[in-house]
Amino acid sequence: MPLSEFDLIERYFARQTPSQNVDIGIGDDCAVVTPPPGSSLAITTDTLIEGVHFPVNTAPADIAIKTLAVNFSDLAAMGARPHWVTLSLTMPDNDEIWLDEFAAALHDMLGQFECALVGGDTTRGPLSITLQAIGLIKAGRVMRRDLARPGDRIYVTGTIGDAAIALAVLDRPVAERDWFLQRLHRPSPRVGFGIDAAEFCVCAIDISDGLAADLAHVIQSSGVGAVVHLPQIPLSAQAKSYFDAAGGIDWQQLVTGGDDYELLLTVPERHEPALLALADEHQMQVTCIGEVTSEAKMKLLLCDGTELPLDHKGYRHF
Ligand SMILES: [Mg+2]
Repeated sequence: MPLSEFDLIERYFARQTPSQNVDIGIGDDCAVVTPPPGSSLAITTDTLIEGVHFPVNTAPADIAIKTLAVNFSDLAAMGARPHWVTLSLTMPDNDEIWLDEFAAALHDMLGQFECALVGGDTTRGPLSITLQAIGLIKAGRVMRRDLARPGDRIYVTGTIGDAAIALAVLDRPVAERDWFLQRLHRPSPRVGFGIDAAEFCVCAIDISDGLAADLAHVIQSSGVGAVVHLPQIPLSAQAKSYFDAAGGIDWQQLVTGGDDYELLLTVPERHEPALLALADEHQMQVTCIGEVTSEAKMKLLLCDGTELPLDHKGYRHF
């Protein structure tokens, strides 16, 4: 007999997760939580739909990890520490093998981040997962996208373009294909780094729609412009080999491909030493890719100083 919704929640999702501040968790009409004194809440939600945000037949563990990672990445971009999540799961049937794998990966990653699943909902329909994540921010230590100032240097964490390559090689046997797929399906949200960067950095965004699109969000909301030196964009060794084999870097793909889940931060020169020291401490690669300018325009410069024209800036939601 198929599981009832109550049994399903009981079996797969009602667990004690190591997080303080939960007064009432799963099982009542609402969860009740009490934020510690002196902290603000950062709240975000994302929906992942099969065939839109992840390929059909993606492994359930990968879906669980990506769902948490994309939300935690938004929290990281504000300098918030993930604390509670709610989950709304729509699926075609109660596939217990699927649920076993999904729930195991979900609880495992929640445990790593000391974050509690405090509520949710299940319904029948095409596979889609909506997660809401609530994080804590130390009072006054928030990073926003509208505080870039002319003269700031633009930094990114990690490497850019790996997930876009994964999407391009889904059906092709290329070298390091599994590594690219790992970057697509299991991004590493830069949570610890984002929280510490918020001690001195006021402007950040996470790169989810594509480097050009997300930088455009920053400069538009800040009322400034930017120059990006394309050859400075950090590539993984795997991406370098991929582009070498393909006859050169596809700049359009690099700056418009989404799903990087790296952070883009803008910092005034005086904070650069702090940023580099922090990167060292976290063993995080950070790379300066350009500067914020006063002219409200984004320029993407190639090696020879000419501008790259963009067909579009990045992932379009509609
Ligand atoms: Mg974001």
